[in-house]
Amino acid sequence: MNKHNSHVPVHKAILVTGGAGFIGSHLCEKLLEAGNEVICVDNFFTGTKENIRYLLHNPHFELIRHDIVHPLLLEIDEIYNLACPASPIHYQYNPVKTIKTNVMGSIHMLGLAKRVKAKILQASTSEIYGNPEVHPQPESYWGNVNPIGIRSCYDEGKRCAETLFFDYHRQNKVKIKVVRIFNTYGPRMHPNDGRVVSNFIVQALKDRDITVYGDGGQTRSFCYVDDMVNGLMKMMEAPDDFIGPVNLGNPVEFTILQLAQKVIELTNSKSKIIYHALPADDPERRKPDISLAQKELGWSPTTPLEEGLKKTIEYFDSVLRAC
Ligand code: NAD
Ligand code: UDP
Repeated sequence: MNKHNSHVPVHKAILVTGGAGFIGSHLCEKLLEAGNEVICVDNFFTGTKENIRYLLHNPHFELIRHDIVHPLLLEIDEIYNLACPASPIHYQYNPVKTIKTNVMGSIHMLGLAKRVKAKILQASTSEIYGNPEVHPQPESYWGNVNPIGIRSCYDEGKRCAETLFFDYHRQNKVKIKVVRIFNTYGPRMHPNDGRVVSNFIVQALKDRDITVYGDGGQTRSFCYVDDMVNGLMKMMEAPDDFIGPVNLGNPVEFTILQLAQKVIELTNSKSKIIYHALPADDPERRKPDISLAQKELGWSPTTPLEEGLKKTIEYFDSVLRAC
C-alpha cells in the first residue's frame, strides 16, 4: 500500500489482470521498474509463465493463478484490468467464456476496486467501434457493431464492460479509467494467435505463403507495445477527473497488403502472398483519432512501424530458433 513518508518514494501495490499476456507482461515490467509492488493475476488461457519468467525472482513481483470470473480479495492501490483473450481465434474459441470474462470479470474487479478504494483502468478496445462508418474514429463515435456475429462476444463484452465501469463510477464513485486500445504488436505476441502481425512474421521467417484475407485493402493502424504501455501508465497517473474513454493507438494507417510487403522486405523472405476469404464482420478501416490523448495525457506513439517490426521479427526469430 502507499507509504506516505517523505523519505521514501511512493510505492503502490498494483494488480495487473492478464499480466502474463502480451501487453500485460510488458506493463508488469515497466511498473516494477517504476518502483511498484506488482501482483499479476492470470489464468494462462493465452498468457504464459515464459512471458514473465524473468520477473519471478523479483521480490516486488507476485504471480497468482486465478480466473477473474471468480471473485478475488486483495489489498491494492490500483488495478489494470487486461484479462481477456485479444486475438479473434482465441476469443472465438469459447465465446461464452469471453463474455463471462468481460462481464463477470469486470464486475469482480470493480467490486474489488470499490471495497479497497483502488483506481481501476479498463483495457477496452477499438473493436467497440465495430466496422466504423466514421473515419478516423474519435471517442465520441458510438460504433457500428453486429450484436449477434462471431466477433460480438468480444465487441459486445467489451462494450458492456465499459458500461459497467461508468455505472460503478456514477453509482459507487469508483475511480475509473477507460482506454480504447487499437491494434498493438511487439515481442511476446503469441506466435499462433492468428493476429496479422504475428501470422505474417512467422510465415515470412519460415518462407511460407503469407495469408492475406480478402483483397488486403482493409486497413489497420499498428502501435508498438512500448508506446502502448507508456500510454496506459500515463492514463492511470492522469488526474482522477479524466476518466476517458480515451483512444490509444498509432494513427499511421496501412493496408494489410502493405503490411505483408513490408514484412517480406524486412525478413528478406522468399514467401509469396496468397489470398484467403475475408472473415465475417472484419472491419474495413481502422485508425484512431488520438487528439484527446495528445491533449489530456501529452501522449503520442513514437515508434515507427519499420522500427517496431524489426524488434518483433528479432523476437520471433529467436522463438522459432529455440523450437
Ligand atoms: P493476451 O491474450 O496476450 O493477454 C490476455 C491475458 O489475459 C492472457 O495472459 C490470458 O491468459 C489472460 N486471461 C484471459 N482470460 C482470463 C481470465 N478469465 N482470468 C484471468 N486471466 C485471463 O492479449 P493482449 O494483446 O496482451 O491484450 C491485453 C488486453 O488488451 C486485453 O484485454 C485485450 O482485449 C486488450 N486489447 C489488446 C489489443 C491488441 O492489439 N493487443 C487491442 C485492443 C485491446
Ligand atoms: N489478416 C490477414 N491475414 C492473417 C491474419 C489477419 O489478412 O493471416 C487480416 C484480418 O482479416 C484483419 C487484419 O488482418 O483485416 C487484422 O487482423 P487481426 O486479427 O490482427 O486484428 P483485428 O481484426 O482484430 O484488428
